[in-house]
Amino acid sequence: MSDPGSTPGTDSHCPYCALQCGTVLTRTPGSDGTPGTVAVSPSQFPVNEGGLCQKGWTAGTVLDAPDRLRSPLLRDSGGRLAPVGWDTALDTVAARLREIRAAHGPDAVGVFGGGGLTNEKAYLLGKFARLALGTSQIDYNGRFCMSSAAAAGNAAFGLDRGLPFPVTDLGRSDLVLLAGANPAETMPPLMRHLNRARALIVIDPRRTATAERAALHLRPEPGTDLALALGLFHIAVTEGHWDKDTVARRTTGFDEAWQRAAAWWPERVERLTGVPAAAQYEAVRLLARARRAHILTGRGAEQHHKGTDTVSAFINLALALGLPGRPGSGYGCLTGQGNGQGGREHGQKADQLPGYRSLTDPAARRAVARVWGVPPDRLPGPGRSAFELLSALGTDDGPRALLVFGSNPVVSAPDASRITERLRALDLLVVADFVPSETARLAHVVLPVTQWAEEEGTMTSLEGRVLRRRAVRLPPPEVRSDLRVLHGLAVRLGEPPERYPTEPRVVFDELRRASRGGPADYSGISYRRLDRGEALHWPCPGPREGGPGLDSAADGGEHPGTPRLFLERFAHPDGKARFQPVDHRPPADTRDEDFPLWAVTGRLLAQYQSGSQTRRVPDLLAAAPEPFVEVHPDTAARYELADGALASISSARGTVTARVRIDPGARSDTVFLPFHYPGEGRANLITGGALDPRSRMPEFKVSAVRLEPAPSG
Ligand code: SF4
Repeated sequence: MSDPGSTPGTDSHCPYCALQCGTVLTRTPGSDGTPGTVAVSPSQFPVNEGGLCQKGWTAGTVLDAPDRLRSPLLRDSGGRLAPVGWDTALDTVAARLREIRAAHGPDAVGVFGGGGLTNEKAYLLGKFARLALGTSQIDYNGRFCMSSAAAAGNAAFGLDRGLPFPVTDLGRSDLVLLAGANPAETMPPLMRHLNRARALIVIDPRRTATAERAALHLRPEPGTDLALALGLFHIAVTEGHWDKDTVARRTTGFDEAWQRAAAWWPERVERLTGVPAAAQYEAVRLLARARRAHILTGRGAEQHHKGTDTVSAFINLALALGLPGRPGSGYGCLTGQGNGQGGREHGQKADQLPGYRSLTDPAARRAVARVWGVPPDRLPGPGRSAFELLSALGTDDGPRALLVFGSNPVVSAPDASRITERLRALDLLVVADFVPSETARLAHVVLPVTQWAEEEGTMTSLEGRVLRRRAVRLPPPEVRSDLRVLHGLAVRLGEPPERYPTEPRVVFDELRRASRGGPADYSGISYRRLDRGEALHWPCPGPREGGPGLDSAADGGEHPGTPRLFLERFAHPDGKARFQPVDHRPPADTRDEDFPLWAVTGRLLAQYQSGSQTRRVPDLLAAAPEPFVEVHPDTAARYELADGALASISSARGTVTARVRIDPGARSDTVFLPFHYPGEGRANLITGGALDPRSRMPEFKVSAVRLEPAPSG
């Protein structure tokens, strides 16, 4: 890449969460050939309207983190990671991969991607895994994020797009029900829209910053949201609030779903969840009275071993009220990671191909194989899901080598102590990152890659809008883009170089072709259209194959994109949405004498995901410097814990050490831990790997624990 020169103001987007706030990047050139610093300010983009959270404002700082990786590292005979040149690093990786494949077969190599990778990287990573490595063993950390909502959305609507309507619709809503989401901390600019809605109902065991602004706050015991959603559905039907006409015209499966919900009368729901029957009636009355209403779910409802059924239960409620497909109303999921949406559409998921198509669909395999220039039988079948892949590392029939791009599973995977052991058991661990994350520190080879303000690309926000990320400075001299890394490895593994382009625009044009005809059809979206400022939400079909525009970087056509889905029909072949018959089941853990409390985990305003970026920003570290455990005053007294004391929080999997923060907003049966911290404060030391049978989402959100003073010394 040539030096982009000084930038008086370049439009781009925040590198962190799925809201993808619009930013203006201003680069101050460095002296002596250094890349220069980048300042971030907000733009008047529709989702953030001139606002940013603290993370967005300070995002420029992480580009110049003092421990930024500046050359490839190779573990030497003394066990130290030592700097080497790129040829040495890539030659070593390729040689080891060839040996491992020759000895154990192609599935002995695994790939673990990330929901923060650009669309271009996610696409090329999936192609690299399936062609250059020939492995089925690829999945990504988005499996830990929104997979339950994706599975439920696909089942109900035939299509999963986080928000099937623009964020701005929320500001015109009469009522928004948020189940398990705390955007006041996780996506503060979204609150501008939610504050304009007439009223807010929040379902959350904690009294969060979002719940404090709600007209009604329902506080179910952790692990019981599904029963609460069934109860709300029950009341909507028995009180005559359901939309019989819309249900009859636009849906199927009501009777089967109702048979399950019929048993969840309000008093039974109250006994199980702790939410008073009167509050349940009030919630449904508010929803039914609203002309325009939205039901949104977040990780609190989704990250369970029954997360898909929980989301299905909320979608059933929304369908009964006639919300999905009604202009100005709907159901949506607040996707978390920056490219959590695009990351799941382009083929880095274990069971999917680009265009958000199934890897087992013969027509999809043929279409993608044609774009890739290979016979369809060269594409492997589906592999293991993220947690199953990580759990199998180094076992007899699991991968012996793992390539990690854009993820830090040592901190972010559940049952973290066991997963760390699995990573240590590998013959080869290769990590591409821009800082020495906790996972990179375990690697045999570390590859330093570009960051967001040093690269061109696209991201897809939580509303399915494709956005341009723009480079405003050069990376440090020995740092390469992930696309170049994949190219370099693929060529060394014997692949033709032209199959792995390194120019993001070229990769995107190929991605467009590979997505054509799929649910997430990008074929009508081009860099040129995005650079003109067009607001393009997928699906956006382009000109017919062989027609003008697709085989070059030309426009892509005239299709305006689809900001609102389902207005005429849902995506199932019959055009109807499908109720799902679901029922409550208890959490995987049981509270008992040994583990008498629930622990839930979540995010803080000043940190992001595993914290590998935000813990390197001094302002953010000062605002949220260390792990803590939020405890109700009565609970703290019961376990003789003072505010600020160090506590041990133990589950059947492990123990976290964190400082006590007494908060009357906590439930007395539940403690809360943020999951952004490494070491003994890793919240995922206590979380478990019980998997949702449909989405393969682990049970992050609820663990049975005991609380006690940390041993001194
Ligand atoms: Fe960035 Fe998300 Fe904060 Fe917006 S809300 S500034 S996208 S982290």
